[in-house]
Amino acid sequence: MSETATPETMGFQTEVRQLLQLMIHSLYSNKEIFLRELISNASDAADKLRFESLENAELLEDQPELAIRVEFDAKKGVLTVVDNGIGMSRDELIDNLGTIAKSGTSEFLQQMTGDEKQDTQLIGQFGVGFYSAFIVADKVVVESRRAGLQASEGVRWESAGEGEFTVSPLDKSDRGTTVSLHLKDSESEFADSYRLEALIKKYSDHIGFPVMLLDRAEADAEAKNVNSATALWTRPRADVTGDEYKEFYKHLSHDFADPMSWSHNRVEGKREYTSLLYIPANAPFDLWNRDVPRGLKLYVQRVFIMDDAEQFLPLYLRFVKGVVDSSDLPLNVSRELLQRNSDLDAMRGALTRRVLDMLHKLASGDEYQKFWDQFGQVLKEGFVEDSSNAEKLAKLMRFSTTQGDSGAQDQSLAAYVSRAADDQDKIYYLLADSYAAAKSSPHLEQLHQRNIEVILMYDHIDAWMMEHLKEFDGKELLDVSRGQLSLPDADGEITQSAMNDENKPLLKKMHRTLNERVEAVNVSQRLVDSAACVVAAEQDLTPQLRKMLEAAGQDIPASKPILEINIEHPLVKRLSGETEDQRFEALSNIIMDHALLAEGTALADPASYVQRMNNLLLEIDAS
Ligand code: ADP
Repeated sequence: MSETATPETMGFQTEVRQLLQLMIHSLYSNKEIFLRELISNASDAADKLRFESLENAELLEDQPELAIRVEFDAKKGVLTVVDNGIGMSRDELIDNLGTIAKSGTSEFLQQMTGDEKQDTQLIGQFGVGFYSAFIVADKVVVESRRAGLQASEGVRWESAGEGEFTVSPLDKSDRGTTVSLHLKDSESEFADSYRLEALIKKYSDHIGFPVMLLDRAEADAEAKNVNSATALWTRPRADVTGDEYKEFYKHLSHDFADPMSWSHNRVEGKREYTSLLYIPANAPFDLWNRDVPRGLKLYVQRVFIMDDAEQFLPLYLRFVKGVVDSSDLPLNVSRELLQRNSDLDAMRGALTRRVLDMLHKLASGDEYQKFWDQFGQVLKEGFVEDSSNAEKLAKLMRFSTTQGDSGAQDQSLAAYVSRAADDQDKIYYLLADSYAAAKSSPHLEQLHQRNIEVILMYDHIDAWMMEHLKEFDGKELLDVSRGQLSLPDADGEITQSAMNDENKPLLKKMHRTLNERVEAVNVSQRLVDSAACVVAAEQDLTPQLRKMLEAAGQDIPASKPILEINIEHPLVKRLSGETEDQRFEALSNIIMDHALLAEGTALADPASYVQRMNNLLLEIDAS
């Protein structure tokens, strides 16, 4: 190898610079994981080469045996990870190791606090990777040549992990990538045979390629194979330890934390495949970005085919990580072919059920709450996307209810039902914009007084979900802010018109006054302390769903709410006795405005409201 041209200096993308800083500081106490990351990358590179060589066998050149070599030289303080995988061209190297393509990265990095413990967790959500090399090295040299390119098209990359890196051309006869870490003086432990062997065993035993260890300082040392080199999912379940499953997850996901749960299965029969599915402990930072590649890693007969095969699981399970290894898909399967393969539907259905079963098992333990806090919102999408599993999903939901006082979403529908009185045949819920708004909503007053528990929903997606979740355990789910509220009542249900009868003149007058703003004015069965509330007619959209659809740019036809008044309330009594038209009008409007404000709806004409209130306040002052 000889270098000729002078190296070209380039700056890291700002995000890379920030990430490097962070990586070095927040992962220092776990610094040894850099080796897992580098071996993982080497293994991915070998996978990719094997895949490309299916079409183009020449890529294998004279080296068909794929392997990874870890070499060290204690005297020089250098540790090198060598692979004969796919390698990188000059442009790829500059792109891959100089920029981060994930969108939302810079917003994400701004959340970093400087607090090591918190940032470590955040890094976990982002994914560790190549840059972790700089935790232990003050200089990293990457030499690479992409398979299929000429030896003269090799490239050398060097950086001290600060603002910049250099790139220069390189003659490299062997294809693949060599990553050399010039260890910091304090990190000489990583140029030690004993230590490296233990680390490789611990972190990389399950890699499907041999990992060889070589002491360069020893004159004619031979590289020694230190891992078992069998892809983990191909081994029988009984032979794999929990720690091995955890390590494999980290290799797969570049996550820093242990997974919460996993499920490893071999399916035989008409369709044969093995799957290994993981539930992560933490949501990745870009969980809500629907454009982020997601899905399982697909192998066919142990040959890596593609990352992020999204056809095997529905979108609402996008947090699941794992591998599926099929025995009967063709080796040349492409994303397009997967999309058109109707056989896949059955596999997708089975894998979906596996994940839901795994969650059901988790749901009976303490850890489920943690899962729910991380992924519950995504799971709710399932009602819309996958109605065939609605029943299973309903059991996995967790909510706040009027029983709790913290807003924690920790109650299942089953727990709610078990607490309900025998004559309660409905599950009551309320939609609001926030926990605080839900908790103090006037719609709850009557239910409160009767000691009826109500589920409080205030996540964005809830209104949408509730369009699809209509029943649980044979009980109807009922929105307490919509239509006539039917309560379990020994005297039977009173109809709205019967309730209105005695107050017809007041209701009529209010309706006439507020004609532009309300569909009807009714006597309320819901209220105890508040003067009024607005309710949606049975067939109307809830205000939450309306807001959601409007935010998504949909044109929603206007609909007027129903105003319900509390006939016992002093303000309503006062209104009832008001003979002066102008005051009646002002007071009616104020009652209406307050009902809207209480449910968190912005007033269409706030200035008029303020003026009416001011007039009223001045009157008090004058009297
Ligand atoms: P990640 O592996 O999570 O994508 P990294 O920062 O570790 O992130 O690596 C960035 C990219 O650099 C990889 O996606 C891969 O394309 C490329 N890369 C890293 N190491 C190697 C290697 N040994 N051989 C080929 N490509 C590599």
